[in-house]
Amino acid sequence: MKSVTEKLFGINVCTDDVLKKHMPSKWYKNYLKTKEDGLPLSKTIASHVAHAMKTWAIKNGATHYSHWFAPLTGKTAEKQVAFIEPTKKGKVVEEFSAKSLIKGETDASSFPNGGERLTFEARGYTVWDYTSPAFIKDDKSGNKTLFIPTAFCSFVGTALDEKTPLLRALESLNKESTRILHALGYTNVKRVICNIGGEQEYFLIKSKHFNNRLDLKIANRTLLGSAPIKNQEISSHYFGIIEDEISAFMNEVNIELWKLGIMAKLQHNEVAPCQHELVPIFAPANISADQNQLIMETISKTAKRHGMEALFHEKPFNYINGSGKHINWSISTDTGINLLDSNIADKNLFLIFFSSMIKAIDKYYKVIRCSTAHHGNDFRLGGDEAPPTLISVFVGENIEHMFKGKIETSNKKSVLDVGVKSMLKPDKDFCDRNRTSPFAYTTNKFEFRMVGSSQNLSWPCTCICTIMAKVLNEAANKLEAASDKTLEVKKLIKENYENHKRIIFDGNGYDKSWKIEAEKRGLIEYANTTDCFDIYSSEDVIDLFESTKVLNKSELLLRKATIKKAYAEAVKIEALTLCQMVYENVIPSINKYILELANSVKNYAGGKHDSRNKLLEILTTAINELSVLSDKLNNLINKIDTTNITDKTLKTLTDVNTLINNIRTNYDKIEHFIPNNLKPFPTYNDMLFN
Ligand code: ADP
Ligand code: MG
Repeated sequence: MKSVTEKLFGINVCTDDVLKKHMPSKWYKNYLKTKEDGLPLSKTIASHVAHAMKTWAIKNGATHYSHWFAPLTGKTAEKQVAFIEPTKKGKVVEEFSAKSLIKGETDASSFPNGGERLTFEARGYTVWDYTSPAFIKDDKSGNKTLFIPTAFCSFVGTALDEKTPLLRALESLNKESTRILHALGYTNVKRVICNIGGEQEYFLIKSKHFNNRLDLKIANRTLLGSAPIKNQEISSHYFGIIEDEISAFMNEVNIELWKLGIMAKLQHNEVAPCQHELVPIFAPANISADQNQLIMETISKTAKRHGMEALFHEKPFNYINGSGKHINWSISTDTGINLLDSNIADKNLFLIFFSSMIKAIDKYYKVIRCSTAHHGNDFRLGGDEAPPTLISVFVGENIEHMFKGKIETSNKKSVLDVGVKSMLKPDKDFCDRNRTSPFAYTTNKFEFRMVGSSQNLSWPCTCICTIMAKVLNEAANKLEAASDKTLEVKKLIKENYENHKRIIFDGNGYDKSWKIEAEKRGLIEYANTTDCFDIYSSEDVIDLFESTKVLNKSELLLRKATIKKAYAEAVKIEALTLCQMVYENVIPSINKYILELANSVKNYAGGKHDSRNKLLEILTTAINELSVLSDKLNNLINKIDTTNITDKTLKTLTDVNTLINNIRTNYDKIEHFIPNNLKPFPTYNDMLFN
């Protein structure tokens, strides 16, 4: 008998089994075959799929359908349409045509488009991506809508979203990997699949606190607030007991995700207080990216129902750990070989793919760095468990031994002995973990740890797939031309490793000596988002994306303009929010306290040396300083034009950031002097230890 979870799993997903049930078998077989071959569906197949989807969705209570896409806003977008169509007799029927399934039309000018396009040529299209299944989303009042994953592009086919480049990169990676496999004699392989497992970190705080903090509501992170009394130093939260109210929330999240066919597998408390993590089982990259969006949405909505607010910003609180989204990346064949598994019998096969990754990261580490560069991540990278901004790859000494020919395969397992006779001695992992490495090999996959918790994982994944496709293309060209494939593959492995091993670093990435060492190796650190903008328009990067057919030059420049604008807007929003908080909350509340203190000094004959006089002086100085700085900030914000971001704008933004920091430092120093009943907003102690 099926368990409750087994019955629940995937009930809201329009799986191939659902389609099979609702399609004539001939057309279902055609559909499957087309999908397997990665070809476009014919109009007739699409009509049958549309009919099957509609029948299933309506049977399950859906009244609307929506094309679902990921514009360059970092969020998903939807436009819900009712199935109803009028009949001649003034009644309605529920319809859903192949045309409505395949293509949607919308105004694209209000979405980020890099300012490249004008409003009079604003048409945008959503195009059905049948490789990611449609699903039904139901809200708590019972409304149900059929969601159809789509790509989003302009009138002339320019990618305006996260999905399109990812799908193109996956195609390119599949093509080049398959060429390598065929050249090496694995001719039965039809396809190579990229798998992603995304670990999602987030904070949960009480809604009552969230609602009283303008910074969290508007800018997604706290702009003011001193460190909590108790912090994460004693590691009491990491893997700590999950409290009942959190457990109830997690349980509901899991149920919602399982209904959506998402294999939510792991949950635990993270290092910082109020920080948690959810990890689903890995899936093909495109599906995984869509699922991650649904995971964040589900966490967010469920938290609200439990009187909490989920925070996905990379650094919602100063002084304690931020949140990331580790991407576990691997590639495997349709015949079931994980090409990054060091245990596969054909050592050359493993090493050619592995060494190609080393070469790809070394050649294009700036692209990998770029893929995670955005305003929020600037606060997180480089400290508190997050990887540094300097890119390196951790491989572990066993893999290095393999490259040097010291061991043939990784099969030689060692055991773990805890020194207690009665205990079993389990096998040890092939390599240790390195928490400071941005790109770490972990037995059969790479873990990219720089990705920010709020990011759509598509872009970082697109970049990894693209650089890998580029390097595999070069290898495939040589392999196909070589008469002795074994000799050639060995040569390629050696070259890849010897010429690119400078990117390998297994030590402590936080250590200052690594920066010095990296500089000697010629590796450049791109410390901030603003250092990354020009990477998008450098010649070699344009060539990389054009030659792999992932993005053309104008699409790349569109991205550059979009991330620049998003960065400027984020700084501006922070500055405006901060000024408002200082004027509306901080100054009035401190003034009130000053008045109280002054009155009490007047009425009390404690004399000049009364400690309250000292406090009065501290508070008066602070308030003066805060208002001078805020006025300055206010003036600076007015100078920022986010529609035309020049070098001068970037310089102003840096000044704005400095002022934001200064205001924070000044406030954080005195926050603890303000009595509880006059505190301008909930403190870190309130929010993190409620
Ligand atoms: P860690 O403890 O190292 O963070 P987890 O056990 O939490 O690792 O797993 C991290 C993620 O890696 C999970 O989503 C898991 O499904 C995924 N994963 C495991 N194997 C692979 C693989 N071969 N390719 C991609 N992702 C994988
Ligand atoms: Mg983890």
